[in-house]
Amino acid sequence: MMTVNQRRVTKPVYVGGVKVGGDADVTVQSMTKTDTRDVKATVRQIHELEEAGCEIIRSAVPDMEAAQAMAEIKKQISIPLIADIHFHYQLALECAAGGVDCLRLNPGNLRNEDQVREVVASAKERNIPIRIGVNFGSLPPVGGIGRTRGFSRHMDLVNRLPKAGEAQSGDYSVVDHMVATALWEISLLEQQDFEQIKISMKAFDVPTTVEAYRRLSEMVPYPLHLGITEAGTAKSGSIRTAVGLGVLLYEGIGDTIRVSLSDDSVEEVIAGYEILKSLNLRDKGAVMVACPSCGRADVDIRKLANDVDALLRGTDRNVKVAVMGCEVNGPGEAKDADVGIAAGAGRAIIFRKGEKVRVVPEAEMLTALMEEIEKTPSKA
Ligand code: SF4
Repeated sequence: MMTVNQRRVTKPVYVGGVKVGGDADVTVQSMTKTDTRDVKATVRQIHELEEAGCEIIRSAVPDMEAAQAMAEIKKQISIPLIADIHFHYQLALECAAGGVDCLRLNPGNLRNEDQVREVVASAKERNIPIRIGVNFGSLPPVGGIGRTRGFSRHMDLVNRLPKAGEAQSGDYSVVDHMVATALWEISLLEQQDFEQIKISMKAFDVPTTVEAYRRLSEMVPYPLHLGITEAGTAKSGSIRTAVGLGVLLYEGIGDTIRVSLSDDSVEEVIAGYEILKSLNLRDKGAVMVACPSCGRADVDIRKLANDVDALLRGTDRNVKVAVMGCEVNGPGEAKDADVGIAAGAGRAIIFRKGEKVRVVPEAEMLTALMEEIEKTPSKA
């Protein structure tokens, strides 16, 4: 099996019990969409996400009531919990004290260095990492982050960036500013000998995002959380994210991912694993191959593929399953699949590695397919 380019070796951090970076698998995370103050609803959603394979969960903390709710949520879930903090450092302190496993800080709107230092001290005391979440839509003003650049351990690289005052020249791009923003906050954390850092560099524009991650990955050893921000609906957002993250992951960049969708968070997790499975980076449940249908099809392949897709969500077997529209070409075209179904007129062939094993009436084909899948040894 082909693999992606050598993964970039990063300095791992632990988010709760989940290792991010180093030699760890690329993890899949998501974010709750409930009101965090509603502990019951948030915990229920986290349990659903965990069931879908979510390995790390993040929740927004808009106010002190939400920050206090995080402590209660943490007690009722088993996957690591990240507090998503904007603007108010006190919320980060409250969440850290409440036992969250990681803090996400936005350097665009939490810029008071003394406040950041206080948060870092709290994270250090509790041995939890901080994600520096740079976001295209909420970058700090140019010139608002220059003061501490001189302390960065990556000074040689920082020096290559245009100075803040040069921004007006037109040479200082958005990517430059995203990178500079990340380096500014990294330097703040490093000043306190805090290295449990991971970083994200999200934008809606895919080339901007790819370039920002590429640049930063050459500069610092910390794990990278990949994502395309405000990507869109399940359909368009998954494609946009897959294109951006696919480029980076193929280059060996990225240690944990989140697919941001205007949809159920479970769809984010499913899309995340599909991206990783496409690059052979993770085995997680079945991979479905489905023919596009053509004039030879003996069945409504769209309906059949969707029915099989829904059934496969209920199995954790790491198998490749083919759904093909005709008996003539189906088994041969999908001989790579562990198990497959090829529809005929009123019946279906169930095959393994292209060889017929059963012929069943159409009404029984889904049951027969699932029986064969359950008999198939899982690859991992
Ligand atoms: Fe057409 Fe059959 Fe190939 Fe599907 S498997 S695309 S129906 S020839």
